[in-house]
Amino acid sequence: MKLFKDLTAEAKAAWFTAHNEPAFRQKQIDEWLYKRWVMSFAEMTNLPKGLREALEADFLAFALVPAGMRQASDGTKKYLFQLGDCETIEGVLIPSPRRDTVCISTQVGCPVRCAFCASGAGGLVRNLTASEIVDQVIFSCRELKERVNNIVVMGMGEPLLNLDNLLTALDTICDPDKLGFGQRHITVSTSGIVPGIRKLAESERQWNLALSLHASTDETRAKLIPKENRYPLVDILDACREYREMAGRMVTFEYALIRGMNDTHAEIAGLARLARDCRAKVNIIPYNSTGRGKFSAPDRAGVQRIVDELVKQGIQVAVRKEMGADIQAACGQLRRQTMGLPPESVENEE
Ligand code: SAH
Ligand code: SF4
Repeated sequence: MKLFKDLTAEAKAAWFTAHNEPAFRQKQIDEWLYKRWVMSFAEMTNLPKGLREALEADFLAFALVPAGMRQASDGTKKYLFQLGDCETIEGVLIPSPRRDTVCISTQVGCPVRCAFCASGAGGLVRNLTASEIVDQVIFSCRELKERVNNIVVMGMGEPLLNLDNLLTALDTICDPDKLGFGQRHITVSTSGIVPGIRKLAESERQWNLALSLHASTDETRAKLIPKENRYPLVDILDACREYREMAGRMVTFEYALIRGMNDTHAEIAGLARLARDCRAKVNIIPYNSTGRGKFSAPDRAGVQRIVDELVKQGIQVAVRKEMGADIQAACGQLRRQTMGLPPESVENEE
């Protein structure tokens, strides 16, 4: 069945005309959907019963059916959602006293297929529609009974390879008449899709950009990211600089730290140089393993040595806590486990 939120304005207007309903009904419905976060038309009690039934016969008010939840010892909650075609995606809610963050997915699977990542292990199944993206945010607001503070587009999928739907979704999320989030409370993470970064810059919004750098040389990146969707570092960094200038926002480098792969002195010295050139902050994410993969993270002391080295070089660095490591919170791990599949692709493509 069609998702109501995915209809174009014209299609909605045509439906209301065909059902002899006044235009103001749309405003009432938007209020229920985006301000009161309802999941069904039946809850829209100020609409005539006949209209609610007609809407329910033709459309779905909400794209996701919660299909599982795990809560980690640190309070992180990971949700599995079923979509209309029975595919599944993940969303993560990370509560904290200072701010609540929701991590949302943009694709079922991921075409980039990074060697360490569960989301990419089976390749791309399909893009999410804009409303499937938006409803992950609405779901987390419902769960918290208040608006989340922070949205990170760091779940399953490569957001910049589903750019049109991502932009439509983010505009809905930021529209004051809809979810009303500030652009600066949203971070889009990319594995380095150069045309996508440039288009994002051209959109002249102020979302934060995170680049999954993972290595300071093209040679090491090639061991982690298959060539089909991998761009030369020089072009990626150029696009990031352009983004920073156009959006006026600092770029963050994400660095999944893998023992013996990208934790060498030379790689870290290169990382410091690139971060300085790009005036980027660095987020270290110690590799999150389910115990069955071929990689491992450096030990705590090893991570600290790397942080100290970066700080000494004047780089602003944070270690992303391994939040929810006990609930398969690295993107795509829970979905893979539910499907009875191993967490990572077995083959390294290059
Ligand atoms: N596709 C986008 C956004 C989703 S992934 C991207 O790659 O940026 C969000 C972050 O988690 C990325 O930096 C990704 O590299 C990292 N990640 C994925 N699997 C991981 C794992 N097993 N351990 C540590 N970081 C991981
Ligand atoms: Fe896709 Fe990001 Fe996972 Fe790479 S790390 S496979 S780009 S979701």
